[in-house]
Amino acid sequence: APFVGATVVPDFSFDHIGGQEHAKRELKEALEFLRHPEQAQRYGIRPIKGILLYGPPGTGKTLLAKAAAAYTDSVFVAASGSDFIQMYVGVGAQRVRELFRQVRVLAKTHRKTSGIIFIDEIDAIGGKREGGLNREYDQTLNQLLTEMDGLKADENPRILVIAATNRLDMLDPALLRPGRFDRHIAVPLPDRRAREAILRLHTRNKPLADDVDLAQLAKDTFGFSGAQLESVANEAAIYALREGSATITRAHFAKAVDKVMMGEVLDREASR
Ligand code: ATP
Repeated sequence: APFVGATVVPDFSFDHIGGQEHAKRELKEALEFLRHPEQAQRYGIRPIKGILLYGPPGTGKTLLAKAAAAYTDSVFVAASGSDFIQMYVGVGAQRVRELFRQVRVLAKTHRKTSGIIFIDEIDAIGGKREGGLNREYDQTLNQLLTEMDGLKADENPRILVIAATNRLDMLDPALLRPGRFDRHIAVPLPDRRAREAILRLHTRNKPLADDVDLAQLAKDTFGFSGAQLESVANEAAIYALREGSATITRAHFAKAVDKVMMGEVLDREASR
């Protein structure tokens, strides 16, 4: 089956991501070799094959990978590590091969010179091995390592793999060796200013009442991820719509914050 996340160059820029200034800067710097490969070659710099984004859920890792593809005019194929966990031995490895084949075909078809493969939840394939070896799991991981080891600087398209995980310390060291995922970029929870920026982005196209103070709302949402802030904006709009209110008020936002916070508590209870 084709992977769901295959797109030609995504229409998404770093400006649509709130905060994460440090991650954006590091990522852009790493992407220079895709934009100007001749420079890296002139200096004899080993091209980057893999970048690992790590941080809590919902902080914008997927968004960063998409923006990276747009920034480098690359075709983009996304998969999740859990897609590779199969009941039958060999299917996971086959899917990895398919993923790399797919990005090459997509690039050729659209005449792009580079492609980005994004693998969310890389820990599902590349988590540390515990005790007894799981053959299926090893084959999938080995296939990924083989594909990455085989990437060439002068190949057309040039391929970069971006992976995301919540837990850097849970990854198999084989993945982190030089020439594999050797660039690690932290994607942390947003601070107050970043929360405000994210709230601004997600309320841009919404009718806000005059009493809404996004700077204050950013203070009141300590510990929220970008995904939770997006939910707050969305839930507040839903409350306003249900009440038939023409604008979204401070009270709607307050209820939305409670709801998202409560959802978080319920999720935690459920996972106990
Ligand atoms: P996961 O680890 O759960 O896969 P993630 O870090 O990949 O999460 P994203 O999928 O990038 O998170 O973010 C989910 C949604 O949350 C985005 O579609 C967006 O609406 C919102 N979001 C998260 N972070 C940001 C941000 N920094 N700026 C704007 N929106 C954000």
